Amino acid sequence: MSVAIEVQDAQRRFRGGGGMFGAARDVRAVDGVSFTLQTGGVLGVVGESGCGKSTLARMILGLLPLSGGSILVDGQDLSAMDRRARARLIQPVFQDPYSSLNPRQSVEEIVGLPLAAQGNSQGNISAVARRDRVMEMLGRVGLSTDHASRQPSQLSGGQRQRVAIARALVLRPRIVVCDEPTSALDVSVQAQILNLLAELRAELGLTYVFISHNLAVVEHIATEVAVMYLGRFVEQAPTQALFRAPAHPYTQALLASVLTPEPGAPIPDVGLGDSYPDPANIPSGCRFHPRCKVAQPGCATHDPAEVVRDGRRVACVLAA
Ligand code: SF4
Repeated sequence: MSVAIEVQDAQRRFRGGGGMFGAARDVRAVDGVSFTLQTGGVLGVVGESGCGKSTLARMILGLLPLSGGSILVDGQDLSAMDRRARARLIQPVFQDPYSSLNPRQSVEEIVGLPLAAQGNSQGNISAVARRDRVMEMLGRVGLSTDHASRQPSQLSGGQRQRVAIARALVLRPRIVVCDEPTSALDVSVQAQILNLLAELRAELGLTYVFISHNLAVVEHIATEVAVMYLGRFVEQAPTQALFRAPAHPYTQALLASVLTPEPGAPIPDVGLGDSYPDPANIPSGCRFHPRCKVAQPGCATHDPAEVVRDGRRVACVLAA
């Protein structure tokens, strides 16, 4: 099996903070992320709001330049590609299908847009061939030719997300970056969209980077999971192994915070408090130490080296 995407020490810094009188500071939104994903794999990236997972998604899509490190897709450096070449390899599916679709265009125009935008680089595909590709994609995502002439406002939320998926796949990309693709949908529709994404991955040999704050969704679809905290992966492991035996204290706390399905049961206290640290002021040593219930002497000053064992990577002294 080949490597679809290789991310090496990817970094993204912003100038921010400071307020009216304070000095602006560097916000290290993504602070040295590395991973390799095989073709056909699904990497679920989870973490609290502000951990950097959506910034990472935008970097992989080429929407944000890297401040350091590299991203290779099919062995090619993403930063050296033009927009069209990137679009043939990587496509997004975003959270809100309504805002990501042009309300004045028909479904056929929306799904056909990536083909049209390729111009001559797709061998100057004819209008007839383009229409055939669009109709084929609509069929694959469970829409009919009747939907082709409709506008987004005439579709349900689930149908709009199917249109967004058809648009993402019409160029037959290698990788799809799904950024919270089911979060804006009704619970009853979420499972349909997840199952559709899983079927399309198997049919078309796709590779997904799947960003979500919903652990149940990630457990359902991902082949491996990365847990992100303050711009870094603190644990990465095959999905079953991670959910069966989380190794990093932060992963353990996240899994413990999953709400119980029992009605009336209280939200479990995971001891993390309710405030996420300021990414412009990352704690010294292990960045998780101020919230860690099992912090050791030295955790406040020593950044733990990553331990790699049995396909699992953990950045914690206790993993050693
Ligand atoms: Fe907790 Fe120390 Fe491990 Fe960080 S290195 S997660 S502070 S035990």
